[in-house]
Amino acid sequence: MVKCASKMDSNGIPLLSKNQLERHGEKILHIFSPAVLVNPQPTDLDGLIREMGFNQEYQYLSHNKVYLGVTVFNDTDMLPVYNPILNRAEFISVKKNTIIIEGTLAENPAYEHRERFTLGHEAAHGLIHAEYYRRKAEFAGFCDNSGGIYSKSCAPDLSGVDASGKRLQGEAWLEWQANYLAAVLLMPKTAIKNIDFKCNGRWHLELISMMVEAFNVSEQAARVRLASLGYLPT
Ligand SMILES: [Zn+2]
Repeated sequence: MVKCASKMDSNGIPLLSKNQLERHGEKILHIFSPAVLVNPQPTDLDGLIREMGFNQEYQYLSHNKVYLGVTVFNDTDMLPVYNPILNRAEFISVKKNTIIIEGTLAENPAYEHRERFTLGHEAAHGLIHAEYYRRKAEFAGFCDNSGGIYSKSCAPDLSGVDASGKRLQGEAWLEWQANYLAAVLLMPKTAIKNIDFKCNGRWHLELISMMVEAFNVSEQAARVRLASLGYLPT
């Protein structure tokens, strides 16, 4: 898998801009699945995670689905999960380099797009944040990657700034990077250009619906991605 040679801050957070994440995501796809860049299609996230050398598991991460995924970088016997039969939290053992997705996402087809974005988000953590979490000797923080509440959209903000317009800091910036790289892996710019060419200047609604179909993503994820690339106003 391609190493992302980026500078880091003193905490091990990679200093990655949007353009660097665009290039890094496309380099990964070029090696893993170059067809995705030529003929727009859903990225095989399960295959990508295997190629990264990570395991993939499903667990109930909380009683109210507030967390959608977690990436484990260090062996642990203390990962908290929810046991729905006993209606209580318990700890499980997890090996390093494991991506865990909230189990209910795989149980209901209505959550397919959310599951795919979560897989992309956790894969992105695995690709670019190993150094940060190994230094901390922790698993990646439980990720809702939807803006904080499970019932919100699965298309997170990709602007990279907070409400006051300042660049995100610390783990908020890590989460932004994971969301941005997930969007690149699911909807690479090169492939979007190919779809846009076929749209031949027709209104963007058609481009959005073609992206939903081609990449198997939600309409809102497609809209946010187009806005981040300048096709639509933010
Ligand atoms: Zn995350």
